[in-house]
Amino acid sequence: MKIILLGPPGAGKGTQAANIVDTYGVPHISTGDIFRKNIKEGTELGKKAQEYINQGKLVPDELTCGLVASRISEDDCKDGFMLDGFPRNIFQAEYLNKYLTENNVALDKVINIEVDSELLIERACGRRICKNCGATYHIKFNPSKKDGICDVCQSALTQRPDDNEETVSQRIQVYLSETKPLVDYYTEKNVIANINGNQDINKVFEDIKAALA
Ligand code: ADP
Ligand code: ADP
Ligand code: ZN
Repeated sequence: MKIILLGPPGAGKGTQAANIVDTYGVPHISTGDIFRKNIKEGTELGKKAQEYINQGKLVPDELTCGLVASRISEDDCKDGFMLDGFPRNIFQAEYLNKYLTENNVALDKVINIEVDSELLIERACGRRICKNCGATYHIKFNPSKKDGICDVCQSALTQRPDDNEETVSQRIQVYLSETKPLVDYYTEKNVIANINGNQDINKVFEDIKAALA
C-alpha cells in the first residue's frame, strides 16, 4: 500500500502513522523525523534544516526532494510506504508524481486529516515526544502513564523546540498557503480520502481503516 498523510501541523499525522504501521506494516517515512534525526546527529543537512524548522518555515525543496526519492527507492518500500509530511507544496507533489510515474508506481490513497484550526495550537503545544523511540503523546489528550516518561521505552519525554505558540502559528500559515493547495491537487487525481480529524484518536483511525479498505 502506498499512502500519503496530509494535514496541518498537529492534525494527528504522526499519531495515525503509528497506528497504520501497526496494522499494515508499511514503512513510515516522515521528513520531519528525518530532519530531527539529522539535527540530533549534527549532520550538514541537520545544520541547514534547523534554521528553517526553528522559524516554522519549509526546508528548501533541494534539501528535501532527493532525500525522499532515495528513501522510497530502498528495498523495504517495494511493496508500499507511507509518506508523512511530504509533499508539502506543489513543487514537491509534482516532483513525487514524476518520480512515481517514471518508476511505474501508483499511489493508493492520500489520507487528508482535517482539523479545525482552533484545535491545532493546543494539540501541537501540548505534544510531547520520546526522543529515543519517537512515540508521541499529548499532556491532555493522550498522556503517558507516568508523567514525562515514555510508556514504550521508559525514556524521558521532551517538547519539540518548534512546538511553541509563535512557531506553530507560523507553521499553520505556511500550511494554508503552501500545503493546503495539495488537497485540490489530489482531489483532481481521485486518490484523496478526507478524514474528520476533530474526533478522538481511535475514531479517526477507524475512519482511516475504512478509507483504506
Ligand atoms: P508537523 O507534523 O507538526 O507538521 P513535521 O514533523 O512534519 O511537523 O515537520 C517539522 C518541520 O520540518 C516543518 O515545520 C518544516 O520546517 C520541516 N519539514 C518537514 N517536512 C518538510 C517538507 N516536506 N518540506 C519542507 N520542510 C519540511
Ligand atoms: P502531526 O504529526 O500531524 O503534527 P501528531 O500526531 O504529532 O500530529 O499530533 C499532534 C498532537 O495532538 C500530539 O500531542 C497528539 O498526541 C495529539 N493528537 C493526535 N491526534 C489527536 C486527536 N484525534 N485528538 C486529540 N489529540 C490528538
Ligand atoms: Zn520511547
